[in-house]
Amino acid sequence: MNKAIERQLEYVLEHSEFYRRKFGNAQLEELLGNFDSIPFTVKKEVLDDQEANAPYGSNLCVNVNDIRRIHKTSGTTQKPVIIALTENDIRHVIEVGGACFKGCGLTYNNTVMHCLNFNMWAGGLTDNLSLEATGATVVPFGVGNTKGLIEMIQFLKADAIHCTPSYMSKIEQVLMEEFSMLPRDLGLKKGLFGAESGLQNPAFRKNLEDKWGIGAFNANYGMSEVLSMIASECTLKRGLHYRAAGKLHMELIEPESGRSIPVQKGARGEIVFTNLLKEAQPLVRYRSGDLVEIKDTECDCGYDGFIFEVIGRSDDLLVIRGLNVFVSAIERAMSRWIEHLTGMYEILVSKNEPIEDIIIRAEKNSASKLSDDQLIHRMITDFKTVLNISVEIVLIPDGTMERVEGKTKRLKRVL
Ligand SMILES: [Zn+2]
Repeated sequence: MNKAIERQLEYVLEHSEFYRRKFGNAQLEELLGNFDSIPFTVKKEVLDDQEANAPYGSNLCVNVNDIRRIHKTSGTTQKPVIIALTENDIRHVIEVGGACFKGCGLTYNNTVMHCLNFNMWAGGLTDNLSLEATGATVVPFGVGNTKGLIEMIQFLKADAIHCTPSYMSKIEQVLMEEFSMLPRDLGLKKGLFGAESGLQNPAFRKNLEDKWGIGAFNANYGMSEVLSMIASECTLKRGLHYRAAGKLHMELIEPESGRSIPVQKGARGEIVFTNLLKEAQPLVRYRSGDLVEIKDTECDCGYDGFIFEVIGRSDDLLVIRGLNVFVSAIERAMSRWIEHLTGMYEILVSKNEPIEDIIIRAEKNSASKLSDDQLIHRMITDFKTVLNISVEIVLIPDGTMERVEGKTKRLKRVL
């Protein structure tokens, strides 16, 4: 077992009440000798522990006075986790974050509008500092005031933007309505995207790139309770390059059995992280819930390491009439229709399992040449072919769905 893991486990046993309790009376030697049998940590445990030991939880390994910054997770699926960082923790986060944005080709030549929520979310302040670490000129715009954003992009001649992919459709709407401008006219050259899926679909990416005249990159895979940013694409767009070596230990497991899977080309499993340097709230064998596929172990850009793609969430698995379907798979299937849709849609299913019906309400792109009936028919057939599920499609007019400025939550358990 490598030295970094040994050092970190020793630190955790010495300072974390949470892990001492979780590991029973296990000594360092036992843990090191059986790393694969160390119990996983899951988000719910961390949340429950924070509730019982508010505000930071019993995994806080440093003196409260040594905390320099507090974030919270975005909490789109659960309550937020409070994240405490020491000065060293912040430095490590920014080092990897900077490497991720640099990997996407962001340099001191760029002026980038940073449009994520600063309201305690690591995507706000921490990503802003990671963008600065590339040498680029960074505009900490945040979310809201899309009209002001467009004016500022024009005024500063900004050439790059960092935001969620769905925010681009909000900008597009305001550009058309208030400026009578097309996306291309704004002059952006580079789009750095994170926090939502979509870009791994070539049709979705191409549409975004053609419409805006930009290079679109999946720039920001991360998990704020582990490390704000962990991986990003390179300019060749061949999948997420893991850029956290030395800061994290990464494993793959079978989600059902928890058994380790060798990390090699073609392997698929849930990604599990252990912090190697974190001081404030280090996590050991933390289940990310993200199912990934290892695409390669090197790239022509000169990168030598794991390249992966997120293929689903182990907790977004829907059982529809007995068939396992990931919400992310539905999202990928939807992105095949980007030519005819605006990209704004919601997936409606019943509140409780078993799920019998699935309704997709989607905005039709006013430029689509297909009639509503034609489009609905083709989409239903495609869902049947690609995912083997029957869906009901409801089309609504372009611009009628509310545009949000943060992370879009498409799945709604409401029926
Ligand atoms: Zn590469």
